[in-house]
Amino acid sequence: MDADWVARFADEVIAEAERRAPGKPIVCASGLSPSGPIHLGNLREVMTPHLVADEIRRRGHDCVHILSWDDFDRFRKVPAGIDPSWAEHIGKPLTSVPAPPGSAYPNWAEHFKAPMVAALAELGVEFRGIGQTEMYTSGTYRDQVLLAMRERKTIDAILDQYRTKAKAKVVDAEEAAALEGSGAAGEDDGSGAGGYYPYKPYCSACDRDVTTVTSYDDVTTALAYTCACGHAETVLLSEHTRGKLVWKVDWPMRWAFEGVVFEPSGVDHSSPGSSFVVGGQIVRDVFGGAQPIGPMYAFVGISGMAKMSSSKGGVPTPADALSIMEPALLRWLYARRRPNQSFKVSFDQEIQRMYDEWDTLSRKIADGSALPADQAAHRRATTTASATLPETPRRLPYRTLASVVDITTGHEEQTLRILREFDHEIADLGELRPRLDRAQHWVTTYVPAEERTQVREEPDAELLGGLGDTERESLRLLSAGLDEHWSLDGLTTLLYGVPKVQAGLDMAAKAATPELKAAQRAFFVLLYRLLVGRETGPRLPTLLLAVGRDRVRTLLGG
Ligand SMILES: [Zn+2]
Repeated sequence: MDADWVARFADEVIAEAERRAPGKPIVCASGLSPSGPIHLGNLREVMTPHLVADEIRRRGHDCVHILSWDDFDRFRKVPAGIDPSWAEHIGKPLTSVPAPPGSAYPNWAEHFKAPMVAALAELGVEFRGIGQTEMYTSGTYRDQVLLAMRERKTIDAILDQYRTKAKAKVVDAEEAAALEGSGAAGEDDGSGAGGYYPYKPYCSACDRDVTTVTSYDDVTTALAYTCACGHAETVLLSEHTRGKLVWKVDWPMRWAFEGVVFEPSGVDHSSPGSSFVVGGQIVRDVFGGAQPIGPMYAFVGISGMAKMSSSKGGVPTPADALSIMEPALLRWLYARRRPNQSFKVSFDQEIQRMYDEWDTLSRKIADGSALPADQAAHRRATTTASATLPETPRRLPYRTLASVVDITTGHEEQTLRILREFDHEIADLGELRPRLDRAQHWVTTYVPAEERTQVREEPDAELLGGLGDTERESLRLLSAGLDEHWSLDGLTTLLYGVPKVQAGLDMAAKAATPELKAAQRAFFVLLYRLLVGRETGPRLPTLLLAVGRDRVRTLLGG
């Protein structure tokens, strides 16, 4: 009955799993390469199958979401911010590269996996992680590797149908950067001058994959290779475990090995000749399996992070997103959009609008007026089959929290005092967490200095000196009314009322002529200039409460 995309995929996956492997647990899959910080853009690779697997579990089916860590992939390049001497490790498996200096983890792959694992736990994503280093080096894929080598002519013929076709569409630079961590980019498909071999050994002398297979004997499984380092060796593939299938063969092998029924892929994997398309043929003709249901998911953009990421030398990660938004909100961004719709995760002012939208939806859920698809997205954001995501007990608008902590610079007592003006029943700041902490982190980390509120230390003597009689009178009326109107509602009435009184009206009069509106706007600009030295700022009643009566009077010229 749910009409959202998750429910529709769940229907399809359950039906397909019944056909393929009745009675067995249903397998959904994701794959990530811990080759560097895992980009926020790659979170969709995990969230899409997570949401579908979760829906399948809600319906009472046994379902496993496997997350394949491509940690046996080669180290391709040294990311920005890492000592250039790491270049000597290029070509080694990611699990054989030392972690960056100061890391608590034993190797490169583990170092970059860890924050992703933590973020996924926070997001309520349940998965079974499968490390490809462990799978290959333990010989778990032995039969599959031997099979692929026996069938190398079939594989080569399949790959050859695509080799001459047009290259994958050009993606823009940001998109390419986001997708770099997603597995396949640029890997050779196993062809070489000496013939086609889908297995690539890591050299036993230098541990790099700059090797070339020169011969293979199907009967004895003797495999000879040479390495760019000068090493040459013959090994028995029936025993060898230091090597892997090339990506375009590795992926379909795992579909068959794990019985994957659902695995989406990014745009880079879905064009003609791409791994997903080629893999569909290889899994059927070589491994006797079937291609998963695999929707292509669109790019997830990031806004407001460009400055930050270049200055920090890093990329936005899911942990960065979770530092400014609650897990349920981040889940919602993925649940509400179909995988083929792109969207942005905002680190700029837009996050405030996103939060407003989320709060509006929550109110509609509470009063029963939300549309079915919105209800579904909300349920998927706030709960999973087995858990409820943590919520902030008392919700004030994110923009209110942000502007208050901006003005108070996080001073707790002052923050509590002002926020109580918005909600008199707040007992302590704990009720406003974690949303309050997220808003505070956003203000201090992502709001550019020039957009932060800086209350003036001293009155602007020059500006005050040049004021006309009307302006001077407006400031006098405001200062005189502060004591009587010292609350959020009171100050709102006073601020709009001063220009009314000056126009000969009652302060509480309902009036909205163009002249009055213009006078109010001019009055507010004057106040912003005198208080914060700019023409805009946080809502004035909030600002006045934060600054305090005495200081307001001083800055307005006494
Ligand atoms: Zn070597």
